[in-house]
Amino acid sequence: MPQEHLSAPYDDILLARLGALRAADLPVHGGRTMAYVYDSGLAGLDELATRAQAVFAGVNGLDMTVFPSVVTLENDVVGQAAALLGGTRATAGTFTSGGTESCLLAVLTAREYAERVRGVTAPEIVLPVTAHAAFHKAARLFGLRVVSVPVDPRTFRPAAADMTAALTDRTALVVVSAPSYAHGVVDPVTEVAAAAAGRGVLCHVDACIGGWYLGHRRLAAGIPQPPPFDLAVPGVTSLSVDLHKYGYTPKGASVLLFRDAELRRHGWFAHASWPGYPVVNATLQGTKPAGPLAAAWAVLQRVGAVGYTELARRVHLATRQLIEGIGRIDGLRVLGEPDASLVAVASDDPGLDPFVVADEMRLRGWYLQPQPAFGESPANLHLTVTAAVATPERIAGLLGELAAATVRARALGPAAADPGIVELAAALDPDTLGPAEVALALEVAGVAPDGALPERMAPVLAVLQALPPRLTERLLPEVVSRLYTR
Ligand SMILES: *Cc1c(COP(=O)(O)O)cnc(C)c1O
Repeated sequence: MPQEHLSAPYDDILLARLGALRAADLPVHGGRTMAYVYDSGLAGLDELATRAQAVFAGVNGLDMTVFPSVVTLENDVVGQAAALLGGTRATAGTFTSGGTESCLLAVLTAREYAERVRGVTAPEIVLPVTAHAAFHKAARLFGLRVVSVPVDPRTFRPAAADMTAALTDRTALVVVSAPSYAHGVVDPVTEVAAAAAGRGVLCHVDACIGGWYLGHRRLAAGIPQPPPFDLAVPGVTSLSVDLHKYGYTPKGASVLLFRDAELRRHGWFAHASWPGYPVVNATLQGTKPAGPLAAAWAVLQRVGAVGYTELARRVHLATRQLIEGIGRIDGLRVLGEPDASLVAVASDDPGLDPFVVADEMRLRGWYLQPQPAFGESPANLHLTVTAAVATPERIAGLLGELAAATVRARALGPAAADPGIVELAAALDPDTLGPAEVALALEVAGVAPDGALPERMAPVLAVLQALPPRLTERLLPEVVSRLYTR
C-alpha cells in the first residue's frame, strides 16, 4: 500500500504499537530503576524537553553556518557548564551525544596534541582500573596503549603516587574519575593533575556522571563539600559532564570542556580535499541532531542553578539515608565511602548472594544493577540515586524492600556456577574460538538460541563472573547477536 494512503488514524495504531513495546521495558520514571535512567521528578520538565526537541527535530548541527541557532544554544550550554565547573574566560567546550563520545574526544584530542606538540608517536593512556569502559574503547579505537593503575581494595581509589609513577614521556593523557561509576568515589584529582602538569601531560577528569550533581551540591548550604575535582584544579586540562544524567535532560547530551580553544582544536576534524562541502567536525558525528541540544538548553534554563542545587541537596540527603540504612541491614555492606550519589552494595555473608537480592528486588519492582566481581571489587549491586527517589519516605520504602529481599535471598541461598562449566570454559582460548565452539560454549552455559534471558539472572551472572573477562568479551557479543537477528 503506498504510504500516502496511510492516513492519520493509522498513526494512532503505530503509536499504540510503540507504546505496547515499551510495556516490556523498565520504567524510566519514578526512581525505582536505579541505573540507566535519571528522573528529576519535576512536573512538566520532560514535556518541555520533548517539545523543545520537536522544534529542532529537522535541524542539522553539521553546518553551523546555515543553522546559526545551534551555535547560540551550544555556546549557552557550554558556558553554563564552564561556569559551574571551574572554567575561566579561556575555557572552551563541545556539546556531544553522550559521555562515551565526550570521553572518546578527550582521548582523541590528547593523542593529536601529544603527537603534534610533543612528538609522541606511541601514545599511552594512564587509567585507574576503575576508569569507565569508554576510555578502553577510546584506546582501542585511537591506538593508545593502556597503562592500568590498581586501586586501594578498601577505598577503591588509586594512590596518587602510583598514578604519578605510571606517567612516562609517551603518556598522552592521564584520567581520573569524579566520581567513578562502579564505587562512586572521587579520585585524587589535585595530586594527579599537579603531577601531570609537572610532566607536560594532559589530565582529564571524567565527571560524566557526577559533575552536574557535585557542582551543584557545592552550592548547597550546610552539607559537606565534595573534594576538589574540576577545571579550577591546577593541571586539569579537560573535563566531561553528562547532561543526560544529573542534568535530567533527554538522552544524547554531554559537554566536554577544555582548558582553552587551542587545546580543543586538536580534536577537531577539518577536510577540504574532496569535491563535496568543506567539513569541520567538532565531534565524531557528521549529521548532528540538534534536538538533544535544544532540549538540554530548555531544561537547563527551566531548572536553573537554584533548582539543580535543591535537587542535589535532596539527592545528597537521600544518599546518606540510604547508606546508613544499608549499614543496618544484616548481611549487606556499602563498598568504600561514596563521595557522590552512587552506592555499591555487597554482601558480607557467603550465604547471601547480591545477585539473588537483585532478582528479588526486580520482582518487587526495583532495578538494582549487578556489578560482577572484578579484581579487588566483590560482586555488588549499583544504585544511582536520582531526585525522583530522593525523599525520606521513598528511601525508607526502598530500604524496607531491600531488607525483605535480603531475608528472602538468604533463604534461597547463593546461585552457584556449575563447576563443570567453569572448568570447561577455563580451558577455552578466547583468541582462537571459532563460531562452532562459541555456539557450544553458550549452549553449555544455558543461553537460549534466541538469546532470551531467564527471569532470574543470578545463575547467569554466577557463570559470567566465573569466566575470565576476556572470554566474556568473546561470548557476550554472541549472545547479543542472537537478539539482533537481522
Ligand atoms: C555514564 C558514564 C560514562 C559514559 O557515558 P554514556 O553517556 O553512557 O556514554 C563515562 N564515565 C562515567 C563515569 C559514566 O558514569
